[in-house]
Amino acid sequence: MGIFDTVTGFLESSTERAPGTAGDDGSEGSYWCDDCGVRVRDVDVDEKGLPRDNKGTPRCPDCDGRMRFERASGTGCAC
Ligand SMILES: [Zn+2]
Repeated sequence: MGIFDTVTGFLESSTERAPGTAGDDGSEGSYWCDDCGVRVRDVDVDEKGLPRDNKGTPRCPDCDGRMRFERASGTGCAC
């Protein structure tokens, strides 16, 4: 029981995710810093220990700027 509570809480707090849209490892895309060209996958943000602002957006490890989320281009076409 306890472990499910922990996992659910982690998932809810790590991304703003809609159910059923996760990939194999739960990644929905990556965060980019346009200035530095740094890319961090959403599932790696917490693992790397990046700080987040109050909206949950991680900050660049190099310049401390806000990072931009870009969804992974999967099978869905945005055209
Ligand atoms: Zn940066």
